[in-house]
Amino acid sequence: MDDKITVTRSSMPPFEEYCEEIRSIWESRWLTNSGEKHQGLEKALCEYLGVSNLALCVNGHQAMECILETLDLHGEVITTPFTFVSTTNAIVRKGLTPVFCDIKADDFTMDPALIEPLITEKTCAIMPVHVYGNLCDDAAIEKIARKYGLKVIYDAAHAFGVTKNGVSAAAMGDASMFSFHATKVFHTIEGGGAVFKDPANYEALNRRKNFGINGEALETFGGNAKMNEFSAAMGLCNLRHVEAAIASRKEVSLRYRQRLQNVPGIQLAAVQEGVRSNYAYFPAVFWPETFGCTRDDVLSALAQHNIAARKYFYPLTSSVAAFGGAHPDTETPIASAVSKNVLCLPLYEGLGAENADRICDVILSLRK
Ligand SMILES: *Cc1c(COP(=O)(O)O)cnc(C)c1O
Repeated sequence: MDDKITVTRSSMPPFEEYCEEIRSIWESRWLTNSGEKHQGLEKALCEYLGVSNLALCVNGHQAMECILETLDLHGEVITTPFTFVSTTNAIVRKGLTPVFCDIKADDFTMDPALIEPLITEKTCAIMPVHVYGNLCDDAAIEKIARKYGLKVIYDAAHAFGVTKNGVSAAAMGDASMFSFHATKVFHTIEGGGAVFKDPANYEALNRRKNFGINGEALETFGGNAKMNEFSAAMGLCNLRHVEAAIASRKEVSLRYRQRLQNVPGIQLAAVQEGVRSNYAYFPAVFWPETFGCTRDDVLSALAQHNIAARKYFYPLTSSVAAFGGAHPDTETPIASAVSKNVLCLPLYEGLGAENADRICDVILSLRK
């Protein structure tokens, strides 16, 4: 049997580099609560992402919940059902109501042309997702938000380091959330970050992530969403190698694209003009009428060759009854169709073009 290929694999810095990085934590015994590593990583990430503020958090999900608390939102949030369930969970757990907008058929991000009819007097914000690292049409979304006085909060968990015409994804909207989970392009084991357009919100979020405490004063409510020093140290190491990680992912992605792009029945995500990708995921949609077999057939054929792919995102978060009643798929037909037919192929640093070929060989052998 061939060697197993997992769908993802964490990037690791050299072992000695991490050991050296954490030596000072042993000496200081300062393990968490905005220590030296935490401060250093916030500064380094601001530089890398080209923003003035970034608040580190224990994970991306909590960063998003802290953003929603900090912006003090109430009412309805227009969002996408084609996302990781965290996005919708954050909305619901903060007492807000998700309103689901369909996606564009070519890049799978929220379709700005469909937003306006969903706006009511209760709408307070738009929460789009830069799915798979494809950037949303931020200019169109911004225009609508301005017209109706809405906040725009991006789930940028997939968009670390992505730029459009040189502008960082982190600079879009009123706020962005990044995830630094072990499986993401850049990681701190578990971790996340919140970036605001208005830097005054940085301090406000720092209180939200530390029980609402400000010095001695207990001025607001808050949970505990702080990042510890060992995670921040991992981030400092990984950030030194992130360009190499992206280059390695790029090599694999380009090979997939080369082999699969003109195959009838296989749809790849559109390549966006002016966008510098981070090659976070490689989604492929298998349209069964043309390709000849279903996404589930592809999944099991790959599994027989010891290759793991993932139905991501499936199911739509709008289909979850806990989120204010299950919405029928017909409300967002494009998201529904993509979700039922998409697979994310294995992609991680070090996978290599040869393995991408092995995966493509299995997929192409299934053509009708
Ligand atoms: C990973 C991810 C999250 C959650 O981030 P965590 O750091 O795992 O909490 C949220 N949204 C999307 C789209 C993600 O991929």
